[in-house]
Amino acid sequence: MRLGFHLSIAGSLLRAIKQAEVLGCQALQIFVQNPRAWRWREIPPREIDAFTAARRLAGLGPLVVHLTYLPNLASVDAALYQKSAARLARELALARDLEADYLVCHPGHAPQAPESFARVARALAAAVDKTPPPPLVLLENTAGQGQELGRNQEQLGLIIRLAGVPLGLCLDTSHAFAAGYDLRHPGGVARLLGETAQGSGLESIKIIHLNDSLVPLGSRRDRHTHLGRGTIGLQGFRQLFAHPWLRPEAAIMETPKRHQADEWRNLLTARSLVTTKMLVG
Ligand SMILES: [Zn+2]
Ligand SMILES: [Zn+2]
Repeated sequence: MRLGFHLSIAGSLLRAIKQAEVLGCQALQIFVQNPRAWRWREIPPREIDAFTAARRLAGLGPLVVHLTYLPNLASVDAALYQKSAARLARELALARDLEADYLVCHPGHAPQAPESFARVARALAAAVDKTPPPPLVLLENTAGQGQELGRNQEQLGLIIRLAGVPLGLCLDTSHAFAAGYDLRHPGGVARLLGETAQGSGLESIKIIHLNDSLVPLGSRRDRHTHLGRGTIGLQGFRQLFAHPWLRPEAAIMETPKRHQADEWRNLLTARSLVTTKMLVG
């Protein structure tokens, strides 16, 4: 399992590659636009070429693009829904130009009704159909805050079935814990993986978002913290990683970024978890 971070592209796309090399990452996740704005920055072909060349040279992979924050693929507001679906297609096309392996997105916010899941599925299918051959789109499980869809594997599996195009999963540990899956105990891990097996299948988990949580089990809030410093704790992560069914390609950390020392420590911690996994099988 390869390890990496979500890193900033503020300034230029190349910045993320340089930072990944400094930290010793194997995998990398980025936004391809400012995550808090609808404004679109056209990326010149020269910058795209420089990025793909530097990424190959650095041996970084998989490269994961995370959809920006404003699109809501489940929105009941027709105008916002159209804008969100178009934005997904546009970011997916750019991710393909950047030779990304995956694009991760959240299902969106809407009442928990069949039509809401169908809207997400339609937006995903349209974007994938528009962009041949696209990076594989991965749906991410959520904490289930407010009207957030995707707090359990049943909902994610339903969206994937309705979409009818190839899709995968990104499993965020802090979101799963906040949504009520107790990763500190074998029963909680077994429930999470068992439901995934029944939903979209275990092989659909390509990427893990490896984050500890600041909030208690089942609190339905999305607050990340450093590995081993939160409510999941190292025991929880060992539990999860020891499970033979879990075989993602990479684990990406989205831990708080205040000091570079935090990144080193998180990476060392993650490496010890992965090593344990290799030893136990
Ligand atoms: Zn996410
Ligand atoms: Zn989160």
